[in-house]
Amino acid sequence: MTPRTLRQVIPALDTSDGAGVSLRRSLGTPALRQLDPFLMLDHFSSDNPDDYIAGFPDHPHRGFVTLTYMLDGHMEHRDSLGNRGDLRAGGAQWMKAASGVIHSEMPRQTQGLMRGFQLWVNLPAREKMTEPAYQEFAPEAIPEVRAEGITVRVLAGEYAGTRGVIDDPHTHVHYLDVALVPGARIELPLPAGHAALIYNFQGRAEVAGQTLPPHGLGVLGDGDLAVVSAGSEGARFILVAGRPLGEPVVQYGPFVMNTREEIDQAFADYRAGRLVQSGPAPAQASLP
Ligand code: MN
Repeated sequence: MTPRTLRQVIPALDTSDGAGVSLRRSLGTPALRQLDPFLMLDHFSSDNPDDYIAGFPDHPHRGFVTLTYMLDGHMEHRDSLGNRGDLRAGGAQWMKAASGVIHSEMPRQTQGLMRGFQLWVNLPAREKMTEPAYQEFAPEAIPEVRAEGITVRVLAGEYAGTRGVIDDPHTHVHYLDVALVPGARIELPLPAGHAALIYNFQGRAEVAGQTLPPHGLGVLGDGDLAVVSAGSEGARFILVAGRPLGEPVVQYGPFVMNTREEIDQAFADYRAGRLVQSGPAPAQASLP
C-alpha cells in the first residue's frame, strides 16, 4: 500500500459567520480556497456563550451538501423541507441543499461548551438542481471502533470493517473522528484518488514524519493509506476524504454552482422567493 504524505499544512483562521458565531476556518480561506470536492471546513469551539449564542438564523444554500458534526453542545436545525433537527453532542447531520434550502441553526443552550464542525461538500453538476435531502443521526447511532489506544467514530466511509451511517452517494465521503492515546499509531485505508484531509483539534498528530499543530489542517498527498501517530499528549483529529468532481466551481457566499450565470440565477431566485423549489408535502386536499 502507498502511504499518503502530508502535502500542505493550513493554519485555521479565526473568523465569524452567521449572526456572529466565532469559528476557526481552515479550508475555504486564502491559503486553500477548496480541495475538490470540499469547499469549506469550519470548527467552532467555545465555552463563552457570546461566541455562539447568536447562531445562524434563516439563510439559504444551493448547489452543495453541508455535513455537521457536533462534539459538544446542542443545536436546533429547522429548514424549508420541514425538518426539525436536534443536534446533540456526538450526533451528525447531512443536508443536501441541492436546488435550494433555507434553514436556521440555533443554539439550544445559553451556557457551556459548544464544539463541532461544519464541512461543505460540493455536488456534481447533474445533482445541483435536484430535490434537497436530509439525514440526521443521534450520537448513539454512530458506530465506534475501539482498539488498543485507538477510538474511531465512523460517521461516513469505513474503518476496520465497520461502515459509517451517513450515505453520501455523490462524492463517497469518508468522515472519521479519531482519538489516539499518547504514542498510538493508526493505519487508515483510503481510496486512491480521493482528496483527503486531516484536521487536528486536540494534541498533536504526525503524518509521514511531519507534525500537525493543534487546529492545523493537513492536506494529504495521493496514496491508499493514511498513517497517523500521536505525540506525547495524544491526538484527536477528523479525517475526511472524498472523490473529486473535476468540474468548474463558481461560489458566491451560500451558493455554489458551475457557472456565473447559475449564480446570478440563484440570486434572482432568492430575491423572487423561488430559491426553495420543494418543501414539506402539502396536506392532502379534501375531495369535494
Ligand atoms: Mn447553513
